[in-house]
Amino acid sequence: MAESVQDSPKPRRFVSLRWRWAATVGFGIFLTFLVFSIIIYGVMRQTLIAQEKSTVTDTVNAVRSRLTPVADNLTVSSVRPLLDSSSNENFDQYIPGDTTHRSIFLDTTFEKMSREDINVTVYDKKGALLFNSRSTPQRFIKSPHLTIKAERNGHFDGLVGRTTVVSDSTGRRIGYIQVADSMTNFHKTMNRITGTIYAVSVAALLISAMVGFWMAARFLKPIKRITTMIDKINSEPQSDSRIEQIDSNDELSHLISEFNAMLDRIQRFIDQQSDFVGDVSHELRTPVAVLEGHLQLLNRWGKDDPEVLDESLTASLQEVARMKSLIQEMLDLTRADQVDTQFPTAVTDVRAVTSQVVGDMQMIHPDFNITLEDELTGETWVQIYRNHMEQVLIILIDNAIKYSRDRKEVHVSIASSHNEVDLAIQDFGEGISPENVQRVFHCFYRVDKARSREKGGNGLGLAIAKQLIDGYHGEISLDSAVGSGSVFRIALPRLTPERLKELQKLNEADSEDAEAVIGRDIKNSEL
Ligand code: ADP
Repeated sequence: MAESVQDSPKPRRFVSLRWRWAATVGFGIFLTFLVFSIIIYGVMRQTLIAQEKSTVTDTVNAVRSRLTPVADNLTVSSVRPLLDSSSNENFDQYIPGDTTHRSIFLDTTFEKMSREDINVTVYDKKGALLFNSRSTPQRFIKSPHLTIKAERNGHFDGLVGRTTVVSDSTGRRIGYIQVADSMTNFHKTMNRITGTIYAVSVAALLISAMVGFWMAARFLKPIKRITTMIDKINSEPQSDSRIEQIDSNDELSHLISEFNAMLDRIQRFIDQQSDFVGDVSHELRTPVAVLEGHLQLLNRWGKDDPEVLDESLTASLQEVARMKSLIQEMLDLTRADQVDTQFPTAVTDVRAVTSQVVGDMQMIHPDFNITLEDELTGETWVQIYRNHMEQVLIILIDNAIKYSRDRKEVHVSIASSHNEVDLAIQDFGEGISPENVQRVFHCFYRVDKARSREKGGNGLGLAIAKQLIDGYHGEISLDSAVGSGSVFRIALPRLTPERLKELQKLNEADSEDAEAVIGRDIKNSEL
């Protein structure tokens, strides 16, 4: 008991498709936005860093070009006048082209140096600090060439450019320059971009969730209608309501029309079933009533009156035989429904079967002249189970005999076109009126009920024949004129030699398998 409780799967929590859809769409839109934001953020960051690097390079080069005319090792007194604006007396007397007395703040390159986040430091050959344009200098590192590195320590997070100063006149190393760029603007810009991305991301998430929810609600509306309709049909199985079609031509409108068509089919099937049950009980009522009458007769007088006994027993046996045949025909009719799945590989030579059935019927009815007009030249194979072909021919020839009049003739003909085999069964009997031509193929339909019953008919023969021929993808039709007779025509698809070989091979394999199973069973039983 405990095991079965453990084994039973946990019922899964219901998660509305609408929410799932909204979440998926929302997440999808958000993800796309995020990827784009990251790409834009990355590209902007790279561009701004490149700009800052070029500022550092320009500043290093500018300071170096200012110091390289100095011949001796750099000293405070040689550096300061060249770089410090406050000690530059020639500030107001800037002469273009005069490199020795140029004011640093009038030089466009030195304008860069004046930026608050740029700190220029100059060292002598031994690394002693000679000049510092702003407060805290970065760690001194000798660098023979121009290097620019990203560094972070304490409050500083930026770029540091380093280089060696070589005298133009002597070609000797006279000092070092370090330019530190704390990239205040860069950090400000990046912070602003990040903030904007966060804010827009939240807005995008909300908007995309709302759009997703709206889209889901819109697209799932027809599904909701279908569910409501299913609920309605479940609570009211006989209801003929259908789902209202939507004004679009897409998968959902197709789903609705398919669903409605399915409901129609099911409804037809249910109607047929209930008609059939009604017909069956109606058909059984008469023989049961007759049987009951005779048994009552027997009960009252039959025990003493041998004549009544004999008559009632004979009549009762007749009714039982009729009921037996009715039950058999009803069984045949229900089985005829699934012929193509029950006998998918059955093949039959129609020519041989027809001539055999015609011969048999002629033997049973010697007073009739049953002729066979055979236009075929050899074996003609059709995909049908042999017994079914025989059954259809017997039903039609039997009817032709049953409903004949003075002219006791039945003509059977068989011919074939390139992809079809055509059979015709013609009689010269009472015929069928045009309004009854289609009805005779319905279950239990008889043109003249009393007369048909008298002849032992249940009204199921033609229904069985039609069901079988339809099941094998053939066609059955009727031409008739009251008083002149009827012609029942059958057309069945003819098998191509290749397909015939294929099906025969399958049948051989099946029969070998069956033989093997029987052999094994016999062996087992002997043991
Ligand atoms: P039944 O068992 O009553 O013959 P069928 O389904 O074979 O049932 O036929 C249905 C009805 O069609 C018959 O009752 C009869 O009225 C009519 N019918 C069938 N075949 C013929 C025929 N060859 N000539 C005239 N009427 C026919």
